[in-house]
Amino acid sequence: MEKIRKPRGTMDILAPESDLWIYVEGKMRDVASRFGFSEIRTPTFEELGLFKRGVGDTTDVVQKEMYTFTDRDGTVFALRPEGTASVVRAIIENGKTSDPMPLKYYYIINCFRYEKPQAGRSREFFQFGTEMFGAKGPAADFTVISLADTLLRELGITGTKLHLNSIGCPDCRPAYREKLVEYLSANRDKLCDTCKARLEANPLRILDCKNPDCKEIAEAAPKSIDHLCEECDSHMKSLTEMLEAAGIEYEIDTHIVRGLDYYTRTVFEFICEGIGAQSTVCGGGRYDGLMEQLGGPSQPGIGFGMGITRLLMAMEQCGAYVPEAKRPELYIASLGAAAAVSANCITTDLRRHGIIADCDVMGRSLKAQMKYADKIGAKYTLILGDSEIESGKAVIKNMKTSEQTEILIKDAAEFILNNKE
Ligand code: ATP
Ligand code: MG
Repeated sequence: MEKIRKPRGTMDILAPESDLWIYVEGKMRDVASRFGFSEIRTPTFEELGLFKRGVGDTTDVVQKEMYTFTDRDGTVFALRPEGTASVVRAIIENGKTSDPMPLKYYYIINCFRYEKPQAGRSREFFQFGTEMFGAKGPAADFTVISLADTLLRELGITGTKLHLNSIGCPDCRPAYREKLVEYLSANRDKLCDTCKARLEANPLRILDCKNPDCKEIAEAAPKSIDHLCEECDSHMKSLTEMLEAAGIEYEIDTHIVRGLDYYTRTVFEFICEGIGAQSTVCGGGRYDGLMEQLGGPSQPGIGFGMGITRLLMAMEQCGAYVPEAKRPELYIASLGAAAAVSANCITTDLRRHGIIADCDVMGRSLKAQMKYADKIGAKYTLILGDSEIESGKAVIKNMKTSEQTEILIKDAAEFILNNKE
């Protein structure tokens, strides 16, 4: 029979990698809850219109990368390409906008984008994201950046750098945008075709184009940070002061932009050189106009999305601590039908006590059972035969030291709990 393969750009995650994912996701939940963020879960698919409005009609994500489908009622849906739009929809739909501010949510989700698969870029990928709504001051920006920074530190990722920029607000950006379009129009011929098309719809995006010619033009372009109004300027100054006070290193990077009108002020990325071309581990920014754009009240927001695969690549790159795979504390080998029943019974007792334990389910010989126990790295083994069942006593063996101890079979769980490494 012909084998069916997984879709291009997706991944299967099996042990021991899945153990690493569990560990990393655990850290995310731990750090996020320490910052007062609670988890939000939203549907994997939404009406296409949500992403058109929430991510933006002129973005690559919406124009080229979305997985859309029409369901049996004729409604057009899309698999989520990111998390923010759904969170904002859910906040509005569930009446959370009248909760005490700020609102703080995090999520760990799969996202879908039709992209060219390569290292650090897949079609189904995983993101840890945070969103904070209701706070317009720089302390909110600082909080989410500090959350990302804390997580990176706790995962032992040392090689990342925070790149920071401000793209202004609806007050100061129009004048800047005009200047930028004027400069870019004068250099139109040298821009790539995508950027030529962006010139009208989304000129800021040209500044982060990866094409070498566009990069060169972007280098000499007017910078948003030099055209900020007083409020945007002081917002940025306060934010950088807080970062400095907290020992979070940053560099101003004028190529970091978000092209859409509802993005305001702070934009940032954590970049890890050395993990390849897809080096942005985390991207975020402020979107004070997004809630209104999606039909809610005007409430400022800020957040980030962190790609989990790239995070794992960064961990590998800097040799970060990775927890050891979990091994059974006890493997119970048995000889004969009565002993097999007893082995299953004791194993269950251990499991009910929260101990990882195992016994034979294959009908293997005693020798083969012991070989298997060794393979799965059992820390202790215990052999049950007719005489053990009769006396109620058995010998438990420490597989590392070969030390043997006689115990009452019914006390197996207690022995393991008292002798855990
Ligand atoms: P990029 O420039 O790498 O395409 P982006 O601007 O499209 O990134 P965002 O929408 O800001 O990315 O998403 C936040 C984070 O999610 C990125 O910084 C990255 O770590 C991760 N990410 C985005 N797209 C992918 C993908 N196709 N595969 C794996 N991770 C991704
Ligand atoms: Mg992208």
